[in-house]
Amino acid sequence: MIPLRPNIAAMAGYVPGYQPPDIAAWIKLNTNENSYPPSPKVVEAILKELGPYGASLHTYPSASSAHLREVAGELYGYDPSWIIMANGSDEVLNNLIRAFAAEGEEIGYVHPSYSYYATLAEVQGARVRTFGLTKDFRIADFPDRYDGKIFFLTTPNAPLGPAFPVEYIEELAGRCAGMLVLDETYADFADFNALELVKKYENVVVTRTLSKSYALAGMRLGLAIARPEVIASLDKIRDHYNLDRLAQAACAAALRDQEYLGECCRKIRETREWFAAELRAIGYEVIPSQGNYLFATPPDRNGKRVYDGLYERKILVRHFSDPLLVHGLRISIGTREEMATTLAALKEIG
Ligand SMILES: *Cc1c(COP(=O)(O)O)cnc(C)c1O
Repeated sequence: MIPLRPNIAAMAGYVPGYQPPDIAAWIKLNTNENSYPPSPKVVEAILKELGPYGASLHTYPSASSAHLREVAGELYGYDPSWIIMANGSDEVLNNLIRAFAAEGEEIGYVHPSYSYYATLAEVQGARVRTFGLTKDFRIADFPDRYDGKIFFLTTPNAPLGPAFPVEYIEELAGRCAGMLVLDETYADFADFNALELVKKYENVVVTRTLSKSYALAGMRLGLAIARPEVIASLDKIRDHYNLDRLAQAACAAALRDQEYLGECCRKIRETREWFAAELRAIGYEVIPSQGNYLFATPPDRNGKRVYDGLYERKILVRHFSDPLLVHGLRISIGTREEMATTLAALKEIG
């Protein structure tokens, strides 16, 4: 027997959404990736950074991603000392747990939301407490004072879609004795976000990613915005060269091309609203969504049957076996053409 820590031996490990090997043969709507390509300026920036014969690659990148903190700071209206860049926002979620929740201490999150928080907590040996949602989309039985070291709030919520109102999140910030981490992965698709709360409450952290709205899941780029004391502690923990050179170049170009981002998100939101209306017209129950996905329940409430029907037609969506979600499907919003094909398939499946 290898001398493994018992919590690592006991854990199952996170299972990410399926990435089929013959990816080009599928309409892939299962991991909320962006079906549009990234800004053409991103590709230019990567090639420029690479240089002839990859000449730039023999030296380490900027350890602190200093330039990116400036670009992101300007974009979001924060001093660079309030920003940390990450190798995907998953990295910064991990480092938040490592910084704030010791072995045996508690972290909390809403169920259903992003179950990776639980995996990260298991690795750390932290305890996990989950809270359900009420019918009016508030957290059920959230205590007046929550003593867990971190509460993760996915807003907009994935996989369901709605975002929590800023006034409500503000109330939660006051009720959390520990940190309140707002996972705003899908904020660029939403009508509003809660970024301003970072300035108002010292325990609020906002995480963002370039994986979804900027169509850069393959580059692994995320960031967090928080008080300089929080950022400084996260800087102690992270891998010192956490973003490679090409990722840094891509990130700067992507953040600077807000016009492209805006146009891409506009198309996706428009397609989302069209697709939601079409689904309702064929009897599906669809939760209003602020993200680039819809949680939709077929009339017979048999999510697996419809998942299988789509799978046979090489359309991949997400079906969860979780009892709270088993009746429905989470469908990422791709291009208008992809969604038209998906709608036709759903009509055929019935
Ligand atoms: C996709 C996703 C992430 C991970 O984003 P990366 O930046 O790709 O690591 C985090 N939280 C939620 C809710 C997500 O859906």
